[in-house]
Amino acid sequence: MDPGIICFQHCGPKVFCFSLPERCPVCEEDLAQANFSLLPFRVPYPFIQASQYPCAVIIKPTTGDFLNDYYNSMDLHIGVTTSSGTIVEFDKNGLRRHRSGQWGQCLLLDQAPGPWAEHWDKTLLQICKQKCWSSKSYSEHKHNCYSFVLTFLMSLNYGNLSNAARSRTVFCEKFIVPRTTSAGKYISLYRKLKEFGFYVHRNKNMCK
Ligand SMILES: [Zn+2]
Repeated sequence: MDPGIICFQHCGPKVFCFSLPERCPVCEEDLAQANFSLLPFRVPYPFIQASQYPCAVIIKPTTGDFLNDYYNSMDLHIGVTTSSGTIVEFDKNGLRRHRSGQWGQCLLLDQAPGPWAEHWDKTLLQICKQKCWSSKSYSEHKHNCYSFVLTFLMSLNYGNLSNAARSRTVFCEKFIVPRTTSAGKYISLYRKLKEFGFYVHRNKNMCK
């Protein structure tokens, strides 16, 4: 899933690309024998495969994936994983537990460490048993995926995560916005590379 974005600096500005070009796009020098001022490195891929992260809170776009389809934080869907990496989510189809690949490109909001696993699973099971998580009672704005995850987190009593879960606004500010903002930079870089092949990041101060 990782498109493998590479970053390097040769004669000044940072250059981003999918694979190292023969010549520097800035000065045209042959890169085979060039001295880099910053050696090529792989830009960290911000997304994860949910099933590989037990006891985690995760988000993804409601439809499609982050790299190609994400535009707006209003279109995010939230879920959790069990201690064995099974995804549990609530949407218009009701409550679902599965291990499908639909969560192959999502953002990790937080993850509880190993000693929490038993309490995590037990609490999650209790919440899942509540009758209100059916497709009939689903409401797009009032009783949705956030209602489910925040209800679970509140009864989990897991530090800052559970405290923030008392308010949708606080939870969003503290756990969602920071992740989507940093992922947004990667997404826009990816889209530029897809369109133009490479991207030169010129430091504005250097032009003055
Ligand atoms: Zn150069």
